[in-house]
Amino acid sequence: MSVNYSEETVRKAEQELARRRSIAESEQLEREERISRELPEAAELKRSLRNGYFELVKLIAAHEGDAKKAAERIRAKSISTQERLEQLLAEHTGDPHYLDVRYSCPACRDTGFVEGVRCNCMKDLLKRFAAEEMNENSAIALHDFSEYRPTYYPEGDIRRRMDGVCAYLRKYCADFPIGSCSLLFAGGTGLGKTFLSSCIARALGERGISAAFVSAFDMLRTLENEHFGRAQGNTMDQLLTVDMLIIDDLGSEPNSSVYETFLYNIINGRINRRLPTVISTNLEGEVLRSRYHDRLASRIMSEFRCIIFRGEDIRQIKALEKRR
Ligand SMILES: [Zn+2]
Repeated sequence: MSVNYSEETVRKAEQELARRRSIAESEQLEREERISRELPEAAELKRSLRNGYFELVKLIAAHEGDAKKAAERIRAKSISTQERLEQLLAEHTGDPHYLDVRYSCPACRDTGFVEGVRCNCMKDLLKRFAAEEMNENSAIALHDFSEYRPTYYPEGDIRRRMDGVCAYLRKYCADFPIGSCSLLFAGGTGLGKTFLSSCIARALGERGISAAFVSAFDMLRTLENEHFGRAQGNTMDQLLTVDMLIIDDLGSEPNSSVYETFLYNIINGRINRRLPTVISTNLEGEVLRSRYHDRLASRIMSEFRCIIFRGEDIRQIKALEKRR
């Protein structure tokens, strides 16, 4: 699906591609300089290949009578020159393609397009920058797994369980997208659901994966504004295509059939695309079922792996620690 992105997002993606291109090309120049110094014969072969290419272009442009024969001669010569060059480079550097430009994406040579169509590398960049923009606009700062403190949970079973949850989520992020199921974080306020889900967004973002972290209410308000033409944007498509979507505090939004339709379209759409979603909510089991229509609730219940958070309100524990 072709998604429209903001000018800012497109600009960032183009800049990143230009950066990759210029690194690939300047590294190639460095290798060429080395070869000029150490292996003049190979440098000469490379030059003759380039001249052959220019001659070929000229011939094609000229449309002269015997152009075809001449072109074949140049081509045949190029092939043998190329072979000799690769042999020399392999002997000297161990790599027959030492003088090639090493693009990050050989498919599009870091231009972002293949035959006029957005290359996958460009799509990944657009998704990533769109997710970063959403995260920057979110009121909640993203945290790092290293900030996890076992002591925020009561000693014994609960702490052991939460240590296990944290370890599982670290591995979940390291292995992503292999075995990445959708997750439902359920449990009372202040038990670290938002904290741990924001750690997922950050850990994945640091790996260059597009991971958007949004508050349920803010997300739904934005969708509503765009849907009714009160705001410009294409948030729905972006939410449907980012590699990971984290919806914080589901259930905090006002009851509304419009909101519920948006939620269903997002959650169902991502399930159909096999893209994982993480939802955190204070609503557990039957409460979630009674809050939403069956089709939404059962989609969540059947497709999401539920992780129940237990303990005492960490915000209160932190406040007590500060007072000490
Ligand atoms: Zn590409």
